[in-house]
Amino acid sequence: MKPSDFPEAIQPYLIPQPAGRLFYRCLQCEATHGIEALLYTCPACGHVLLLEDADADRLQTIPGETWRQIFDYRAMLTTPALKGIYRFHEFIGPILPPDAILYLGEGHTPVVAASERLCAQVGLNFYFKNDGQNPSASFKDRGMASALSYINYLVRSGTIAEVLAVCASTGDTSAAMALYGAYLQPQIKSAVLLPHKKVTPQQLAQPLGSGATVFEIPGVFDDCMKVVEALSETYNVALLNSKNAWRILGQESYSYEIAQAFDYDLADKVVVVPIGNAGNITAVMSGFLKFHATGVIDALPKIVGVQSSHANPVVSYYVEKDPGKRRFQPMTVRPSVAQAAMIGNPVSMPRVIHLVERYNQAAGKERIYFVEVSEQQIMDWELSANRHGHIACTHGGESLAGLIQAKTLGYVTADEIGILNSTAHALKFSGFQEMYFNDNFPADFEVTPKTELQNAPIYIHPPDLEAVPAPGNPLKGEAFQQFVSVVASDIAGRLKLKRR
Ligand SMILES: *Cc1c(COP(=O)(O)O)cnc(C)c1O
Ligand SMILES: [Zn+2]
Repeated sequence: MKPSDFPEAIQPYLIPQPAGRLFYRCLQCEATHGIEALLYTCPACGHVLLLEDADADRLQTIPGETWRQIFDYRAMLTTPALKGIYRFHEFIGPILPPDAILYLGEGHTPVVAASERLCAQVGLNFYFKNDGQNPSASFKDRGMASALSYINYLVRSGTIAEVLAVCASTGDTSAAMALYGAYLQPQIKSAVLLPHKKVTPQQLAQPLGSGATVFEIPGVFDDCMKVVEALSETYNVALLNSKNAWRILGQESYSYEIAQAFDYDLADKVVVVPIGNAGNITAVMSGFLKFHATGVIDALPKIVGVQSSHANPVVSYYVEKDPGKRRFQPMTVRPSVAQAAMIGNPVSMPRVIHLVERYNQAAGKERIYFVEVSEQQIMDWELSANRHGHIACTHGGESLAGLIQAKTLGYVTADEIGILNSTAHALKFSGFQEMYFNDNFPADFEVTPKTELQNAPIYIHPPDLEAVPAPGNPLKGEAFQQFVSVVASDIAGRLKLKRR
């Protein structure tokens, strides 16, 4: 639909104009910094930053009801810049003119109800939000669309000429950055640092295919992160890890989409997210808080953050119930099938601590919970979900295992509704499914396959066949007839088919 086809009261709001005054705020010393320079940490004290809008009050002058209409009508527009995360422009990146916005198909990911049978097994109704259906097949595209749109804006306005984008990655950040960077050739070039053999072959193929320079580094993600931080402190590069607050801003769209998908009624909802570097849960909390503060939603949903027991520094922090006694301890991670979350020293931990407190305060009660699950539970629930029509990755399985754990612990009740982040596409992590099916997980994963969840192809090659077709060498005539009928009856026998 064209803007002129919409109700007159909404028309003036449909196409957003640049507005707002964004700045960085340090969560430690409270200092504020301008956004003209690309900052990742506070120049005064070195801590992480978040972006805030000095004119955020202007959003309060529009009633929540009007905001809801603006977003719902905007969803019908055909303008590419407003199809994805910038449908929520005023909340995501208000200073950006629409022509600087990069849209590669991210955002508006499907929310899929779990089947009755699966819900009955789990003990409550729930949905998967399939963020693996983003262009590079993970939620990371949301934050990259934001960060690269801002860089594009700086390039177009002549503030900077060319950019070398760098990131450390457990696989998906580099895939997303390389994709969005490639779109902005030649001004943007990309270089990614990956822990050697700690990303899947599919994830390695992505930045290579997008033309990025790919470095493999010994160690785990936390080691790569230190190297890339050293690079960004000494050299002229743009750091695209979630330490970059523009990434967080874009990822807030995940919360906004959930609000919209459930008609802005989140009182009985439980949003479940896996935690690695903790950028995503930071964004999810921040997004809901902003919608709540402006009256777009009346109630803050529960949030459950999930970690594997092999990489659980955030859960360990919150095990202590007395906030005054909590101490953050980075940990040494062990191998995890939720490999994209295999992080022992999450960069966004200070943001999490800050926002959990604000969130519970705004809700007037405890609304954020952290749970830990085993590698075994992650695999079993990923495979169970996918045997019921989903496309959950291992982290989606982690979300489901986390929901069940939260219910067991009494954090969630049977009358609530789960919304689970399947953060990437199942196919990126099919190697773990393969290990499960073939029962060849290295011992340190601590996964023992359940027979009822295993599967394997059946090779049909009847011994009484003289000839079989081969590529470039088809069978003809009698031999071909023979082949078709012998193979068909072999399959019919195995499937116990009845004759018609
Ligand atoms: C990055 C990532 C995570 C972890 O998100 P954080 O923001 O680092 O906490 C989880 N799942 C997948 C598939 C990811 O790519
Ligand atoms: Zn500071």
